[in-house]
Amino acid sequence: MNYNSTRGGTLAVPSARAIAEGLARDGGLYTPEKLVPLTDELMEELAGLDYAGRAARILGLYLTDFTSEELLTYAKKAYSAEKFAHPAGFDPTAPAVDGVAVRSLSKQEHVLELFWGPTSAFKDMALQMLPYLLTASLRKLGEERTACILVATSGDTGKAALEGFRDVPGTQIVVFYPNDGVSDVQKRQMITQEGENVGVCAVYGNFDDAQTGVKKVFSDPAIRETLDKNGRFFSSANSINFGRLAPQIVYYVSAYLDMVKSGAIARGEAINICVPTGNFGNILAAYFAKAMGLPVKKLICASNANNVLTDFINTGVYDRRREFFKTLSPSMDILISSNVERLLYYLADGDTAFVAGKMKELNENGIYTLDGEAAASLKADFIGYCCDDVQTRETIREVFGESRYLIDPHTAVAINAARRYRAETGDETPTLIASTASAFKFCAGVLDALTGTPAADDFEAIETLSAVAGQPAPAPLTGLRGKTVRFAETVEKDALGATACRLLGVEV
Ligand SMILES: *Cc1c(COP(=O)(O)O)cnc(C)c1O
Repeated sequence: MNYNSTRGGTLAVPSARAIAEGLARDGGLYTPEKLVPLTDELMEELAGLDYAGRAARILGLYLTDFTSEELLTYAKKAYSAEKFAHPAGFDPTAPAVDGVAVRSLSKQEHVLELFWGPTSAFKDMALQMLPYLLTASLRKLGEERTACILVATSGDTGKAALEGFRDVPGTQIVVFYPNDGVSDVQKRQMITQEGENVGVCAVYGNFDDAQTGVKKVFSDPAIRETLDKNGRFFSSANSINFGRLAPQIVYYVSAYLDMVKSGAIARGEAINICVPTGNFGNILAAYFAKAMGLPVKKLICASNANNVLTDFINTGVYDRRREFFKTLSPSMDILISSNVERLLYYLADGDTAFVAGKMKELNENGIYTLDGEAAASLKADFIGYCCDDVQTRETIREVFGESRYLIDPHTAVAINAARRYRAETGDETPTLIASTASAFKFCAGVLDALTGTPAADDFEAIETLSAVAGQPAPAPLTGLRGKTVRFAETVEKDALGATACRLLGVEV
């Protein structure tokens, strides 16, 4: 399988190189030149495997530079029971494998719990795997330089990447997070990060400022040269790296098979998939699964008040020139959703000039429009919904009231979308709803939604929420309080290059 830059500057690159480089030189995203069909025979075979086996088999369709033995070894380590502490007996319908659970709330609502990993958010599903893929890619390419992973995070990627890459030989990692817009818990998780090869720094501004700043550092020729002289080069763990995206396809296919196994659906029966969306990585993986042939009727894209994607899907106009809101679901406080660029590539049948043109318009004018077939095909696969913080709180309360099931604000945005879609369209298709974080990771908002009483701080909120819900909080979160702060710095967004170099220990 070869990879093309969505903007056409680099074509037919093998998988190991696409993963090692992360972002293509022309600023485009590496994406598989075609999608591989999930045949009936393959689905049959996958049904008989555990999660690690399914991951190795599905990744093998795309990451053709790796042997199946290699992929299976990585998957077994990445998705081990030590890493994904899904409590046994939590839910009788949950598959007993590797921390991914489908929890059925009703005949129509099936929650895919993706948050049982070390950082309590779904990012672990990909970021426990990526370090194996990346370091192996470098070995395969004969790369002797150290890979410097540069991350812009809206909160959860940063911690998950730090946890995945800490003390991995041949790598260093630097994470930038917006000082304005991560939760207490998220911030504490990052600034207390342990490991010899890690650096963390806050940026004045929001996620888009951090992401734009990091993208600039990536493509700055002077910084690239400095790194090269110091035996280093940049790579990415953001969902612009295809090595992040590929492992996310796995859980949609796996969840479908588990739903068949538990009797929630019949073999071949269509489902909808509803995903709380920020940078468009998670829902793009669901789109890949659908395009590969997983029986999916509609992809429901759920946004918070930052509803640029809702408008895009429903009108074909992507317009980021709008007010930016800080919400209860900060991991989705994004106006420039990077992975939409990959979607455009497939909507336009691989026409890279088309994609490059749209990205140029977005960059220069903050807006572009899809029309004709591309817009029609977008609408055929997706539907967009958004909700504000009031509705998010209501949904948290509603779901807890119905079934004493605790959800985080991101998951609440998705459940709100799934319910409105069903009410408005009458579509009773069973819907798989991605639950992307533990409620305890965003406990202040959740506690406030349930009790109307804000806690003094996030750490008190964890304890109170645990008591209110009658559920223990994940151990890595309760342990945060006593940890030492290692990274307390905040910098301006145009100082990211110099800061990155300093944290990496290279002379500018
Ligand atoms: C990252 C994240 C999202 C958004 O995922 P994308 O792949 O960026 O669309 C949603 N919820 C949580 C909790 C996240 O951490």
